[in-house]
Amino acid sequence: MALTDKRKYDCIVLGAGIQGSFTAYHLAKSKKRTLLLDQFPLPHSRGSSHGQTRIIRRAYAEDFYTDMMDECYQLWADLEKESGTQLLRKTGLLVLAQSGNKGYEQICKNMEQKQIPREILSEAEMKQRYPGLSLSPGDVACLDSNGGVLYADKALRAVQMLFQQMGGVICDGEKVMHIKPGPVVTVTTTTRMYETDRLVITAGPWAHKVLRLLGLELPLKTLRINVCYWKEKIPGRSGILQNLPCFLGVNLNGENHEVYGLPSKEYPGLTKICFHGGNEADPDERDLQTQKLKIQDISRVSNFISQYMPGLHPKPVVVEQCMYTNTPDENFILDHHPLHKNIIIGAGFSGHGFKLSPVVGKILSELCTGEKRSYDLKPFQISRFKIPLKSAL
Ligand SMILES: Cc1cc2nc3c(=O)[nH]c(=O)nc-3n(C[C@H](O)[C@H](O)[C@H](O)COP(=O)(O)OP(=O)(O)OC[C@H]3O[C@@H](n4cnc5c(N)ncnc54)[C@H](O)[C@@H]3O)c2cc1C
Repeated sequence: MALTDKRKYDCIVLGAGIQGSFTAYHLAKSKKRTLLLDQFPLPHSRGSSHGQTRIIRRAYAEDFYTDMMDECYQLWADLEKESGTQLLRKTGLLVLAQSGNKGYEQICKNMEQKQIPREILSEAEMKQRYPGLSLSPGDVACLDSNGGVLYADKALRAVQMLFQQMGGVICDGEKVMHIKPGPVVTVTTTTRMYETDRLVITAGPWAHKVLRLLGLELPLKTLRINVCYWKEKIPGRSGILQNLPCFLGVNLNGENHEVYGLPSKEYPGLTKICFHGGNEADPDERDLQTQKLKIQDISRVSNFISQYMPGLHPKPVVVEQCMYTNTPDENFILDHHPLHKNIIIGAGFSGHGFKLSPVVGKILSELCTGEKRSYDLKPFQISRFKIPLKSAL
């Protein structure tokens, strides 16, 4: 039977991935008595926030993300200072596409309008600066000069540590089983029962399962991502790994998909290059994948490598798993529950939420405390999905 925790919290955050941890950090900064809950003992590698590295960039087609990124860079720098840990390495981020690609043009236009430092690189400049990446005739390249790598695991550790230093409480290894809405929300885990004035749900790929406890069906798809690491054909000779920036290949070679890569920290001598997408999978069955599904994704990256990075072996050395939680438009959900206004939802980060987590956490904490909102939240509202309200009853 669940024990009752005598302490009632101002706020409980359900899910201690990067989004929940940053939300808890901002709430603790606002002097709210906050509990951060996770189903697994921390740290863990079952969700979306694990691993050493993530890409940070301002190169977005949507201006609202570019605007949020200005503050994100500042908040990442604050976190580095507060924790005394380096969390970001500037490498530049290349956006690669075929000439005339609409997505690429929109990114360049947005960056120009927002006066974001960027360079359009000619074929000759690409060859000279990045010999490991060989473009095909008709391909174009734009460098987001301040793009780079975030040290993901270190960042998660740092934000959780600072949250605790501000008096925040973390209870891990406790799965939330029931939520009773009301002016005071009761949250029952596998071991305890808690009460709170406000609940924030940041459950990553489990969001739809948790929201179902509250009668809410959101159009979220959970995808299993193959995270692939590749090695040089002649280790150390081609100079690919020494000078590799982060990159995003948008619909290259007539293919309707994206591939991204970054200088990896996970395995010395290997680089991380992945397909931006995957097959639908239940997060609780992530590792029960069939060989066929695995190969489909990876062969797309292999084709990319054979053509664009011929210095690498076109067969991965290591393949790991991670989860995306996608919305139909790949924009986030940052909103109140349609019926229970003291329950706040952060979900659907669609494979690009890590870099934005400092501001996501700030927004979710503002929704919680009722403070003035720093951003226009229209792109992130649940109402854009036209969910019949009866499904939220
Ligand atoms: C392979 C890969 C590459 C990526 N690359 C980038 C990138 O380069 N740049 C970028 O910006 N973003 C990137 N992303 C996206 C980014 O990592 C995610 O958007 C982000 O980590 C999502 O964090 P989250 O907190 O929402 O989810 P999670 O980290 O999954 O956290 C959710 C937490 O909720 C907990 N939970 C769920 N249900 C319960 C319950 N019932 N009770 C208690 N706890 C519960 C889970 O245990 C989990 O710890 C990438 C993602 C993947 C998978």
